[in-house]
Amino acid sequence: MRLSELHTGDKAYIVKVNGSGAFRKRLLEMGFVRGQEVKSILNAPLKDPIKYNIMEYEVSLRRSEAVMIEISMVKYDVPKYEQATVEKDSERTSNQSTFIHPPKPPKHQKDSKTITVALVGNPNSGKTSIFNIASGSHEHVGNYSGVTVDSKEGRLKHKGYTFKMVDLPGTYSLSAYTPEELFVRKHILEKKPDVIINVVSASSLERNMYLTTELMELKVPMVIALNMYDELQGTGRDFDHETLSLMIDTPIIPTIGKKGFGIPAMLDKIIEMHETKSENEDDKVHISYGRVLEKALYRLEQQFAKTDISHLNIPLRYLCIKLLENDKDIHEIINTLDNHQAIFARTERERVYIENLLREDPESAFTNARYGFIAGGLRETLSEKTNISETTRILDTIVTNKYFGFPLFFVFMWIMFEATFTLGNYPMEWIEWLVQVIGNFVRSNMADGPLKDLLVDGIIGGVGGVIVFLPNIVILYAFISFMEDSGYMARAAFIMDKVMHKIGLHGKSFIPLIMGFGCNVPAILATRTIESRSSRMITMLINPLMSCSARLPIYILFVSAFFPKHASLALFSIYIFGILLAVVLSKVFRKTMFKEENTPFVMELPPYRMPTVKSTITHMWDKSRQYLQKMGGIILIASIVIWFLGYFPHNKATEKVFDEQIEQTAALFSQGEITSQKQDSIVSGIEVMRASVHQENSYIGQIGHFVEPVMRPLGFDWKISVSIITGMAAKEIVVSTLGVLYPGDGQSQESLQTRIQKETYSDGTPVFTPIVAVALMLFVLIYFPCIATIVAIKEESGSWKWGLFTIVYTTLLAWFIAFLTYQIGMLF
Ligand code: GDP
Ligand code: MG
Repeated sequence: MRLSELHTGDKAYIVKVNGSGAFRKRLLEMGFVRGQEVKSILNAPLKDPIKYNIMEYEVSLRRSEAVMIEISMVKYDVPKYEQATVEKDSERTSNQSTFIHPPKPPKHQKDSKTITVALVGNPNSGKTSIFNIASGSHEHVGNYSGVTVDSKEGRLKHKGYTFKMVDLPGTYSLSAYTPEELFVRKHILEKKPDVIINVVSASSLERNMYLTTELMELKVPMVIALNMYDELQGTGRDFDHETLSLMIDTPIIPTIGKKGFGIPAMLDKIIEMHETKSENEDDKVHISYGRVLEKALYRLEQQFAKTDISHLNIPLRYLCIKLLENDKDIHEIINTLDNHQAIFARTERERVYIENLLREDPESAFTNARYGFIAGGLRETLSEKTNISETTRILDTIVTNKYFGFPLFFVFMWIMFEATFTLGNYPMEWIEWLVQVIGNFVRSNMADGPLKDLLVDGIIGGVGGVIVFLPNIVILYAFISFMEDSGYMARAAFIMDKVMHKIGLHGKSFIPLIMGFGCNVPAILATRTIESRSSRMITMLINPLMSCSARLPIYILFVSAFFPKHASLALFSIYIFGILLAVVLSKVFRKTMFKEENTPFVMELPPYRMPTVKSTITHMWDKSRQYLQKMGGIILIASIVIWFLGYFPHNKATEKVFDEQIEQTAALFSQGEITSQKQDSIVSGIEVMRASVHQENSYIGQIGHFVEPVMRPLGFDWKISVSIITGMAAKEIVVSTLGVLYPGDGQSQESLQTRIQKETYSDGTPVFTPIVAVALMLFVLIYFPCIATIVAIKEESGSWKWGLFTIVYTTLLAWFIAFLTYQIGMLF
């Protein structure tokens, strides 16, 4: 029977996991091992994925993945011939002599007052919380896997010692399948921290300890932080961690990461370990994998007898285990050795030996042995489990309910957007006002000239344009952070997964895409939570098609001018068109550039947890700072460049003509021929004309004229082209540029809507028709998102290549779609 056939609410036992490679290994490591009890808890509203309970935690699997797992409805006894135990290195009687290269961590002076510490643990075990409290940093914590993608370093002082602490990405194991796993393994082997703090979540001990067993093999001094100790106490279970600590010869300190409880005790322990580092420090315990595996290991170790591997800095036993487990990375390392052929041949023989004797492949054999060891240890120290927390169970039946799940989700989304854009509007207005006040202050206190114009229009205007979005970003992130910390985000991904899977993406892609409607920049930063690189890249690349709020003023202008009767429908259609285009492109990208999906969709659904105010505020503060830092510099430069292109060259002669006209008007007024009101109106008309003429002659105007032939087939004149070019800095600028370039007759105050409706070519045909308006709106929807978005894509993808790619593909696509719209529209 297959796991996918298990009815909701039923229990079964794992027989075996089929499939191969990364996917299979991940499932094994997540606890889907022989004999384990698994329970199907609930289906997503669309019947896929399915939530299972295994090893006391919850995980979601797609139906297509659950098919790979064979189950049995009756409990059966796992053959007992290979129970793993612990053993002291020095007691390894059989192969003492093979320990020719005892691993030698670089020797420290005993009195060294600096201790380097690495935090290692499963996603969501509380590493970042501990890191933040210990080092006083403000890293983002989230009840959602994959939040920490790279490592963060912090320092702290405790009892005269300086701790250099590194927060590493969360991993379930140390195999070589995901970038995070490789990163953590490399860090430990190459940087050789003095101590590893293995953060273990007490609420799912069995699975968390899997990583512990792997870490033990690396032979780096280790303390276990038994985190979420409050949750363990809450369930009323007894855990004799002192005994377990003796069994595995590793200190275990209970901690509560978000409150800081236990952290001083942990630091004390580390100092104690550091000070009493004994001579026989290499004499640690290791897991003994049972007769068959140990024999294979022993013979493989023998093979290394004449090979010098000390430069690799990897314990020999670890190398051999990983070779038998068919680890790609270790394979490459061995490849650099002289006699690698003999080693590989021996490995192959031993793998066959294991398969023959144990009737399972070596990967499963080692995984089973590790889990067997853990189960044995916990059986003696941890009392029987009670059920998964009631609140989590109740909340989940509501939140992922067939009927309520989606409506509830959309209500949350709606509240989030309302708050972001309606609530955010107030502070936005204050900031706009402040920017204006500062601008006016400079304007009235500085001598006229290019420098003043640069300062007022280029710098203050440009930077002001970035800062005004800050309130929206802060509010948006308050919500996102709440959803992540509470555990709801994982559920949102869970219910959306089937839909997203249809377009080749992951449930986790949904949130960044939704955020894109607000602003593409934070949305692209939010793609970090997607584990698989290919899904992350696709989500990033299609994100600009989610029409951000900066494009809204443009749509409103044209919709109200040309489709006043069907305004909502027209607006809605544009958004939908963007989404459909994103769907198509996502499929195209998946089929062409990002073919392989390298990580399976095995997502942990953490229990609900109440986020702390502190962590939410820290998160908001972090994001705001990140936004200002990352975007500020580039936007500043871009605004200056665009200002420069629009300001120069300054034509003295034309300026003079306008100045003279203004003087003439003043003369007329002083002669009493016109009223002061009339004078004001004429002067403002002249000023508008001046700005318009100036724009046309400026470099930007010249560029506009230059690209006009390319834009003509879309029905755009040079003025539209100029607006489109200025819109590259930020889409809001399109409207203000149109305002300058279509001054109307310059005398009467008319709205921009009427002005563009009246605008004609020299032969009298109107510039703007409904078809041109549609083509333009679509062009604006699709083309070059904005400089900030491109910078964000570059930052998150790690290379300019993808930034450039986005510029090219969006602009070509925009041209093509606008071309089709206009040309087909003209036929009717
Ligand atoms: P990381 O993924 O390992 O870095 O984990 P985080 O530090 O981001 O924490 C994951 C979640 O667990 C967050 O919602 C934290 O607030 C919460 N958390 C961390 N430590 C504890 C703890 O000791 N007890 C409880 N109840 N929650 C905790
Ligand atoms: Mg973290």
